[in-house]
This record gives sequence, C-alpha cells and structure tokens, in this order.
Amino acid sequence: MRKKSGRGIRPYLYIAAIAVGIIILGWLIFSKPVPVYQEKIFSSLGTVVRVNLAGDKVSSEVLVNIAEKEFSRIHNKYSPNTEGSLIYILNEKGKVKVDEEALFLFQSAVNYAALTGGAFDPTVRPLIKLWGFDDEFSTKRVPTQEEINQALSYVNYRFINIDKENMEVSFLKDGVEIDLGAIAKGYAIDLVIQRIREVDPKASGFIDAGGDIGIIGPKFKELPWVIGIRDPFSQDYFSAIDTIYLTNGGVATSGDYERYFISEGIKYHHILDPKTGYPARDAVSVTVISENAMTADIFSTALFVLGYENPALEYFTNFGIQALIISPTGERIETSGFNYFREKIK
Ligand code: ADP
Ligand code: MG
Repeated sequence: MRKKSGRGIRPYLYIAAIAVGIIILGWLIFSKPVPVYQEKIFSSLGTVVRVNLAGDKVSSEVLVNIAEKEFSRIHNKYSPNTEGSLIYILNEKGKVKVDEEALFLFQSAVNYAALTGGAFDPTVRPLIKLWGFDDEFSTKRVPTQEEINQALSYVNYRFINIDKENMEVSFLKDGVEIDLGAIAKGYAIDLVIQRIREVDPKASGFIDAGGDIGIIGPKFKELPWVIGIRDPFSQDYFSAIDTIYLTNGGVATSGDYERYFISEGIKYHHILDPKTGYPARDAVSVTVISENAMTADIFSTALFVLGYENPALEYFTNFGIQALIISPTGERIETSGFNYFREKIK
C-alpha cells in the first residue's frame, strides 16, 4: 500500500521541483539587485557635507570617496581663506591666472550677478569681513555706517575683469575682494554628480552641503527623495514647514538661521544686501529648485536679497528655477511651478 502511494506522489514531486527551479531561475534573471547606500560626512567649503550614494557598476564606497576628493579639490582651489587658492591669490594680488574650469566659474558668477541686478554679487567680501562672517573665528559686530560706506565702494561685480585670451581674472580697482560662498557649494555638487555619472551612470543618491542638495537618480531606482524645508521660525533643526520630492536636479535653501549673531536684540545674518551693506531683511528663508545645484545655490541667495515683494520673481523661472520665499512674517510666496514638486508620484 505504502509503495503504491509513493509511486503516485513522485511525478508531482518532479513537477514541483521543476517549478521551483523555474521560479529561482526567473528571480535570478529578472530581479534587480537592491542598491546599498553608503553615507559619508565630512567638512568642506565651510560647511558639513553629507553624501549618501549607491553604486551600480562600482562600489558605493568608491563613489563616496570620489565625492569627498572632489570637494577637497574645489575647497583648495576656491576657498578665500586657503593660502594659495585662486581666490586667495586674486584677493591678495588683484589678478590671477586661471584654467578653463575656473574661467567658467568666474564667468558664471559675473553673469548671474548681472542677471540678478547685483543681488548676488561675488565682490561682497569686504562687507562680509567687516561683519565678521568670513570665518567662524572672526569677531562678529555691527559696523558703523562709515565703515559700511567705505566697504560698499569696493562692492560691484563690474570691477571683475575676465580676460579669456590671456586666461586671467583681475580687479579693476584696488581693494576689491571676492567670495564665492554663495555659488561654490552648488558648483562642487554639480561636479561631483558629473564625476559619479562618468564612472557609474546608474548610481543613485544625494549630496547635501549644508542645505544645498544635489540628487542623483531615484532612491532604490524607483522612489523620489523626500526633502524637508526647515521651519525658519523654529529652533528645532528637524522641524519642517514643507516637503518636496525630487528624483534629479538641485535644491538649495538660504536661511537667516545658518550663520548669525544677535546684538541689542536684533539678529544679523550672513546674507548681505550688496546695495545697503546690511543683512537682507525681506526674507527669512528661500528655497530654489533647479536642474543643477549651482543655479539653485546662486538664486537662493539672490532671491533672499530681493525679498518677498520682488516683482521679477516669476520672470526668473525663465532661467529654469522655481522658488519658495518665506517673508519675515511667515507669509509664503512661490513661483507658479513650485507646487509641482510637492507631488509625490513622478
Ligand atoms: P549658505 O552658505 O548658508 O548656504 P548662501 O548660499 O546664501 O548660504 O551663501 C551665503 C554666503 O555667500 C555668505 O556666507 C557669504 O560668504 C556670501 N554672500 C553673502 N551675501 C552675498 C550676496 N549678496 N551675493 C553673493 N554672495 C554673498
Ligand atoms: Mg546660495
């Protein structure tokens, strides 16, 4: 009896074994490996940089190291406080020889300064130094009106002369100094993304340089990255007032809470209005979304200076950006396409 029933079951076992085999084979052929993200945190360009990357062709570890190396290269080349950097030499000697890459960065800075009517102006450094925002160790204080007027006489992007033929950047006036603090982080992020795509086109992840963020492809190859916009009225770093979803591109937030000091009950922060010489007063937070991180970085600073009553806000969407401005009273003003990024499903 037992033998008989055993013979009856055997064909079913074969069929089941073949079916399991087919399922395993199918899984091996069609399943995509889940990306493994690696995080690395380092300090560069005066801020904390957090990279979170997953490789497809090369290991995630290789990618995060590429990111750190690239940031370090950009820092050493453009930081105004690093002896021997292009900016250090330019500020000291009034002229410097540049390569193609630096020429692009200087030209971009000047072009965007012109485009924003000088709201973004890389020659703000004499003012930045006066307020003590050039270095975390500098003394922070409210300068006198006379000191501000004196510093203002050196602030104008038109004092920057770019000589493409001789590959040289120079100042047209003694005493001019520049600071690429409102563009360098975004620029570095774009370069890192470019390098990563070169070595691993299917890599994904993000780079966050103190509120300037670059996104490289969807999370786990299918999900958008969730980016919280910090509440500028809250002391809590993690308190968000809005959420956007991105699978690519750049986003930057400039806030009055990043670097500031309080004197006689008044808050003085690090984004200066190149027209008045004082911290810009008509915004407390500006978030800009763009296809690349450099434009997002520049415009987050420029729109902060131009403030919430800026009549040209919508006009700037012609340059590929969308923006959300928070006024000092908490009012929200945004460009027509900003809301699109609040949609989860892309
Ligand atoms: P964060 O550095 O906090 O991300 P921003 O991107 O807005 O903020 O850049 C602010 C930095 O840019 C300042 O620390 C200063 O070095 C420089 N900066 C300040 N005001 C201006 C301005 N109006 N135009 C260009 N650069 C500026
Ligand atoms: Mg900026």
